[in-house]
Amino acid sequence: MPETKIPSRRQFIQRTASIGGAAAMAMGTQAFATPTPPPAKWDNTADVVVAGGGAGGLVAASILAQKGMSVILLEKEPTTGGSSAISGGAIALAGTDMQQARGIQDSTELLIKDLLEVGQHANDANLVKAYADHQLELYAWLKSIGAKFNNVTAASGQSVPRSHAVDAGEHLKLLRRTAISSGAKIRDMTPVHRLVYDESAGRVLGVLAKDRRNTDVSYSATKAVILATGGYARDAALLTLFTPAMKTAPAITGVGCTGDGLRMAWALGAGLADVAYVKATYGFRPGATTISDMSLIYYKGAIMVNQAGKRFVNESLSYKLLGDASAVQPGGYSYLIYDEPVRQAMLKDSQSLLGIEKTQGAVVKADSLAALSAMVDIKSDVLEDAIRQYNENVSRGMDPQFGRTTLSAGYGKPIEIKTAPFYAFKAVGVILGTYSGVTINTKAQVIDVYANVIPGLYAIGEVTGGFHGAAYMTGTALGKTQVFGLIAAKTVATGV
Ligand SMILES: Cc1cc2nc3c(=O)[nH]c(=O)nc-3n(C[C@H](O)[C@H](O)[C@H](O)COP(=O)(O)OP(=O)(O)OC[C@H]3O[C@@H](n4cnc5c(N)ncnc54)[C@H](O)[C@@H]3O)c2cc1C
Repeated sequence: MPETKIPSRRQFIQRTASIGGAAAMAMGTQAFATPTPPPAKWDNTADVVVAGGGAGGLVAASILAQKGMSVILLEKEPTTGGSSAISGGAIALAGTDMQQARGIQDSTELLIKDLLEVGQHANDANLVKAYADHQLELYAWLKSIGAKFNNVTAASGQSVPRSHAVDAGEHLKLLRRTAISSGAKIRDMTPVHRLVYDESAGRVLGVLAKDRRNTDVSYSATKAVILATGGYARDAALLTLFTPAMKTAPAITGVGCTGDGLRMAWALGAGLADVAYVKATYGFRPGATTISDMSLIYYKGAIMVNQAGKRFVNESLSYKLLGDASAVQPGGYSYLIYDEPVRQAMLKDSQSLLGIEKTQGAVVKADSLAALSAMVDIKSDVLEDAIRQYNENVSRGMDPQFGRTTLSAGYGKPIEIKTAPFYAFKAVGVILGTYSGVTINTKAQVIDVYANVIPGLYAIGEVTGGFHGAAYMTGTALGKTQVFGLIAAKTVATGV
């Protein structure tokens, strides 16, 4: 694509620094994020500076260091990990030996098809293909450093089981150890707050960060700055600007998810993508504080009803679409209703339900649907009627009202809800990530609003947009940050 020359980056910076209203307030351009010219003398120098030590930043730092490059990773919080470390640990991979051992037929083509369908074709198909082309390389690299994959299950948006589960906390510790043992230097409690941009060279040359005494320290990056700063779920100003409906939704994310990298790249002219699609993930008990307060039991056969006892959605849809559908029901919540066989099917894949059941009042149980209805204050005849109709449809393999014919995105067969005891779990949506942000190309280079590369600047993971489109497949956020960490490292190391 030919380079578009208007306006110069300096003009853009001047304009963004002087814009008024909500955008400027959200960017914080007056006090924060505006690019700065190079200092007379740098305090530190490396080939590559990585901002942010979630899974993506640590993968990129590790691979770059393994390839002999000098790398400094700057982390805002007291330690690395970010949202990655508290995540469910599902990584979407297609065509692995683990799948083959279980007889699961998967392929990069099917992965691409599912990703585009889940994203409602609003995704950048080139980024989707780049993910598909590199995910097995990431899998091999992760195994080479000793990553432990526990099982493979199906979840949101997957037409075959492809969530490869790691223990997220342990995985992030492994990545940190790998980065350090490979030679990368990690500086915790060192928030990056400005990109250093040289107008005459036309490239990003480094960053400014705050040290523990809140003093500015400069870091020169002779080859690349990689933004791996995560999302913005904890930033009300950005949520209000991009997706006002989500500004008061509860969020469970890493504490550093305040949109710093997005602001810095945006202030330099980066494009933005997918920011209108921030959604809450469905299946948490109200008041949830961790991922252990969530159950995916709807993908095992639970149905969703509102407080009137009526179904309102195809429960096999992406859990983000379920979050949208549930949020607009009276009270902003819904009930997951299931029976003992559905519960047992869930427990085979995940024990998280056992934890939720221990929380007083989170799950109620009764020997009959009438008794269950009374416990959750739903009219029993309405609920019983909904379940009778659902069971009839399941036995005929159809769902004329809502279209549920599988358990999740084309996978598995719904089963009738008829074997006591019966259960009700009041559930809401919670923002786990923003999955949107600065535009990148298939080499993880940041692209500006005119589709030109911003030289010297890369971005990976949740700070980026374009890959997911309108919704999200389980495992592709933790997957994306690591796959694009690998891609960025390879691009920078080979100088292509
Ligand atoms: C509870 C929960 C469960 C999830 N489960 C899954 C799942 O099972 N599968 C899946 O695919 N996705 C899941 N996700 C989403 C996924 O974990 C994240 O999207 C992904 O891990 C983000 O990785 P990242 O490397 O881009 O960012 P993060 O892991 O958030 O890391 C970003 C890092 O950058 C640091 N940082 C921020 N600003 C600065 C700055 N200015 N200077 C320096 N450092 C900075 C942060 O402190 C943080 O350490 C889940 C998310 C949550 C919260």
